[in-house]
Amino acid sequence: MAAARGWPRKLAAVAGVLPGGGGPGPVPETAAPATAALYVHWPYCRKRCSYCSFNTYVVPAVDEAAVRACLVREAQTLLRFSQVHSVTSVFFGGGTPSLASPGTVAAVLEAVAGAAHLPAGAEVTLEANPSSTSASPLAGFRAAGVNRLSIGVQSLDDAELRMLGREHTAAEARKAVEAARGLFPGRTSIDLLFGLPGQSRDAWAQRLEATLGLCDDHISLYQLTLERGTALAAQVRAGALPAPCQDLLADMYQTARNVLVATGFRHYEVSNFARKGALSTHNLSYWRADQYIGVGPGAHGRFVLRGEGSCSREARVQILEPVAWMREVQSQGHGTRSRVVLSPLEQLEELLTLGLRTDEGITHEPLFSSPAAPLGTGMLMPSPSLALGTQRWEHFSPQLSLQAVFGEPGEARALQQEGWLVLDSGGLRCTWAGLAVLDSLLPDLLWQLQRVLGAARRPSRGTLAEERAGGRGVRAVSGHNG
Ligand code: SF4
Repeated sequence: MAAARGWPRKLAAVAGVLPGGGGPGPVPETAAPATAALYVHWPYCRKRCSYCSFNTYVVPAVDEAAVRACLVREAQTLLRFSQVHSVTSVFFGGGTPSLASPGTVAAVLEAVAGAAHLPAGAEVTLEANPSSTSASPLAGFRAAGVNRLSIGVQSLDDAELRMLGREHTAAEARKAVEAARGLFPGRTSIDLLFGLPGQSRDAWAQRLEATLGLCDDHISLYQLTLERGTALAAQVRAGALPAPCQDLLADMYQTARNVLVATGFRHYEVSNFARKGALSTHNLSYWRADQYIGVGPGAHGRFVLRGEGSCSREARVQILEPVAWMREVQSQGHGTRSRVVLSPLEQLEELLTLGLRTDEGITHEPLFSSPAAPLGTGMLMPSPSLALGTQRWEHFSPQLSLQAVFGEPGEARALQQEGWLVLDSGGLRCTWAGLAVLDSLLPDLLWQLQRVLGAARRPSRGTLAEERAGGRGVRAVSGHNG
């Protein structure tokens, strides 16, 4: 399924290694009306896929009425805490939220619209599995308010789907995408995995070609991660399946980028491609470090508790296990497991880590007039439409400019000279080459940021320079690929 659930997971991992201090105190939020994206987690699946390590549960029966009531109540509570005036997008992720009934989706959306402004036309995405997606329930979801679908196709080859433990066949995936495109034209995204054990370069090229014949205007492309504890990782560890080779993975990623860009897609984020402007508004909220509220078991959020008089951005995580989460929501109105005030340094580190995943990068100017870069190679240029009004760096660091942090001699300057990074009047962003090896650039940049802010804690360098020189595809591809 799609990226939303994976993002909070990645953020948690990043937050876990951040230095706690670094600055005089939280960055105060302005008095401007607050907006936020809202993520809703449906924690159930019919069957666990062999590669899945997500917060999902397979249970004999789901008490949907109880889950629905808790999702509604928690959404109302967190919207009240945050005093969010307007919800910019809603994303139902999971698990398999297409197993929920349209009535549950409608109830949550009604609660959101009752507690805050939900603009007509705001992006409302539902993740769906081909096996639980036929035209009839999809029409129900559309009537409930869903206007964008993210379908977990993962592969268009039956043998690969069996290896992944998916419930559906390639033919069912095709049927599901066709049905979705009929109901959500221009707003159907598909998820695809690459780097499967034993997958060859040619097989991947064929999958890409088949995908191009099927897809709508948005594709999320994830390198398969062999997570500890999953059945697939155990098979690879035991030698029953071959481990994918790093060079091949990098090659597959480059092939996909080149093919998709050549066919009119914009590579707007490490794992995401869109054409005709069909970018995911919701996921952009994460990458731009906007506020977001997470509702449901294990959901993550980043927002200011204005309702409690706070002006500090917090990282919030809800209780993972659904029954424990429901108990807490029923007694307290929300099932928050932890909340941590983020230091200014932590906020900037998140902004850096997330913002550089996008082709717009981290902007410091309100408006760009740069022409679009030639497709396929060369520099990634900020998009005028995306960059408009997004002075992201200044919002989080009003006193210390991007130039002051990354423009001086140091790691970032070296990365620019080596052709991985650009810092100019548009902001800080990766080049085409840099985006492919972002994970290997970030430790140097984080180190420079920490040093300038006087909170340096040197990350382990390993052989980062060698990895870059070797062109390894070291990417942050941790988006949800369920
Ligand atoms: S990969 Fe997605 S569909 Fe499969 S078990 Fe995990 S959450 Fe469910």
